Amino acid sequence: MNAGPGVPPRRAFSPAMARLVMKFGGTSVADVERIRNVARHVKREVDAGHEVAVVVSAMAGTTNELVSWCRDAAALHDAREYDAVVASGEQVTAGLLAIVLEGMSVNARSWQGWQLPILTSNAHGAARILDINGQELVKRFKERKEVAVVAGFQGVHKDTGRVTTLGRGGSDTSAVAMAAAIRAERCDIYTDVDGVYTSDPRVVPRAHRLDKIAFEEMLELASLGAKVLQVRSVELGMVHNVRIFVRSSFDKPEDIDPHGTPPGTLICDEEEIVEQQVVTGIAFSKDEAQISVRHVPDKPGVAAAIFGPLAESNINVDMIVQNVSADGATTDLTFTVPAADYDRARDTIAKAKVGIGYARLDGATDVAKVSVIGIGMRSHAGVAAKAFRALADRGINIRAITTSEIKFSVLIDAAFTELAVRTLHTLYGLDKA
Ligand code: ASP
Ligand code: MG
Repeated sequence: MNAGPGVPPRRAFSPAMARLVMKFGGTSVADVERIRNVARHVKREVDAGHEVAVVVSAMAGTTNELVSWCRDAAALHDAREYDAVVASGEQVTAGLLAIVLEGMSVNARSWQGWQLPILTSNAHGAARILDINGQELVKRFKERKEVAVVAGFQGVHKDTGRVTTLGRGGSDTSAVAMAAAIRAERCDIYTDVDGVYTSDPRVVPRAHRLDKIAFEEMLELASLGAKVLQVRSVELGMVHNVRIFVRSSFDKPEDIDPHGTPPGTLICDEEEIVEQQVVTGIAFSKDEAQISVRHVPDKPGVAAAIFGPLAESNINVDMIVQNVSADGATTDLTFTVPAADYDRARDTIAKAKVGIGYARLDGATDVAKVSVIGIGMRSHAGVAAKAFRALADRGINIRAITTSEIKFSVLIDAAFTELAVRTLHTLYGLDKA
């Protein structure tokens, strides 16, 4: 990223004068009244002496509508024109917010991706940011105290000059990349929840908001489907060490002390987390399906014969369990795929039957994956064993297990999801007092 001058200090939450990126999602800019509320949040930080770049999403529902118009226009359409259409949502919000800010006597101007520019790859619909030029923004912070209102989600292809978009939820990534480019002290993600929780509060009433979470942990949570942030934005935050602060946009702007520590969750380097828990959060997903391939020959090349065709069909395989053969001849192989791909995955395996040479195909869609995450697992033994005992005590059968350095997941019957998640939440001391 193309850094601007002046690296601010890193420690204090909000030093006397800081450079901030403030990102507002679709529900926070859903109508002009809410955009006014956003402007008051921005004005508060500007009045406190901070240099501010705002990144906005399209108004809630807009991108969905634009996407469906493209589909209506032609089921198979040119991805470059899709980007031209869907990038427009953010352009509207950026302009509106700049208008409202000007009306409140805050210097502001809107920026589209191509104007800065935000250079991307040419993967239309899922482009990656390659470079952002933040120099002009920084110059304007200094010379005119001007707020930059940047359209999220969009960029421009570095060679063709065509408009690109970053994939759904991409304005989170725009915001973090922008923060890296202008060396912001922090990237504030204002959203409709007030932070990252130890688990989904709708399932675990005792879930509590985390004050801090490490990048690696948040990456696992986001990959497991926590909707707070686009996965890519967390990756970028980790690579560029951009502190990301998830906070609510519905708090009254004037009630917040711009130099204090407001409610929210800071996603940061693990070094910054003093009181590290062994387990940080429990995630779960019911969108899983299990497929078991029975009596496959136990010889080299069988896994390739199964997972090769699945990969070619673009089916993401998650957990994989293979037994050691008892008779030296055949074994069973179990894996999970997203529930939406279940039928396609079964078809794919059935078509490859001759090459694989299995006896029977079994499957289940009424399964759920429960995952326990925490960087403390690196240095503590027996964390997972405790969970297996607790689940067994509740009569919950485990169908498959996978582990990594900072996470383990179990596949169970979907009917037991809530019980399992609550049990583990209590087991690892995450219940709020
Ligand atoms: N408006 C885009 C979407 O709905 C990008 C975003 O909101 O982050 O996916
Ligand atoms: Mg979002």
